[in-house]
Amino acid sequence: MQSPLFSSIVGQGLAVAMLDKALERGPVHAYLLAGPPGVGKTEAALAFAAGLVCPQGGCGRCNTCRRVQEGIHPDVEWVAPEGNLYRLEEVQERISRHVAYRPYEADSRARVYVITEAERLRGAHGEPANHLLKTIEEPPRHAYFLLVTDQPQDMLSTIVSRCQVIEFRPVPVPVITADLMNRWGLPQAEAALFARVAEGDLEYARELARDEKVRHWRDRLLDMARDLPGAGPVMTEAAIDEVLAMAEQGSEELAAQMKEELERRLEWASDARDRNRLEKEHERLLKRRQRRLRTQRLGMVTRVFAGWYRDLALAAVGAEEAVLNRDRLAELRLAALPDGLPAYLDAVLAARRTRERLRYNVDARGAIGDMLRAIKEALTQWPLS
Ligand SMILES: [Zn+2]
Repeated sequence: MQSPLFSSIVGQGLAVAMLDKALERGPVHAYLLAGPPGVGKTEAALAFAAGLVCPQGGCGRCNTCRRVQEGIHPDVEWVAPEGNLYRLEEVQERISRHVAYRPYEADSRARVYVITEAERLRGAHGEPANHLLKTIEEPPRHAYFLLVTDQPQDMLSTIVSRCQVIEFRPVPVPVITADLMNRWGLPQAEAALFARVAEGDLEYARELARDEKVRHWRDRLLDMARDLPGAGPVMTEAAIDEVLAMAEQGSEELAAQMKEELERRLEWASDARDRNRLEKEHERLLKRRQRRLRTQRLGMVTRVFAGWYRDLALAAVGAEEAVLNRDRLAELRLAALPDGLPAYLDAVLAARRTRERLRYNVDARGAIGDMLRAIKEALTQWPLS
């Protein structure tokens, strides 16, 4: 029977079955969880880590399982790059320096390193990856490495070949629709719309379902995309400001909320050393979550823009059944011009290019500005009548 740890992971039958079997039959020391963003890789990594550390092999009910899944167990080390790429020193300090130590808690069966954004391990010249490789090749008995990536094509093959690869797929639209209806109580039509718009990204679909603000942003971004062709320079600047404000929003809320969590945890700390550890962990966790939130928000901007122009292209060629933003079908029909197709496709490409750039580029203002200008140029260049 499947471990209850995996019960909340939706639409990843094969990946979950492989991880579950590994817990049952004996895991290897390194896994690569690879697949598109928002499909449950991190959640699965935590569930699997709980199974490795739990004294009962992943009961899903004990204190150990609970803390691992909340990301606060001392024997599950979360590793994320501080900058765009991992540095050698980060890998040394966070992993190899203490990999030989026994688990921190007496009843833990393992120490697990969850290495996020693993494609960034290649660093500037491959040193972080090569350094980690040595550790992975001869791991201490109690150490496990769960590498997570949504850009597997950017991974160094030497690392990939040392890991058992667990592939995650986009979550099918009907599965997302059912999840939104059952878990968040959405009416069918709305659930189906968000499932479609999310294109397999369950996390984004859930955000749309439960967060009114996110729904509002989607509407605003679609309006901006619609109005961009007629927008003057002042309006375009205002759009950039609005988009960036959107990306920053929620960051302070998150900090306040996590501060409360920290206070609660500190009450349970056993001694000064433990307090210190919790505070350090908190700092790192906060930075990581804030960065992730910002990246997600900026990703949403390029996604919504790409989606709008893709829909315009579909509407222009009369393929309305494939439109993502069904709630905007009337506007799309009005706006789509049959001879606009090349321009719409250029606009889609500009948005996708920006998405790639934003993954490594810290200058969000520059990247978003370039995107809006490139799209505007594409749309005005063609003789759209
Ligand atoms: Zn347990």
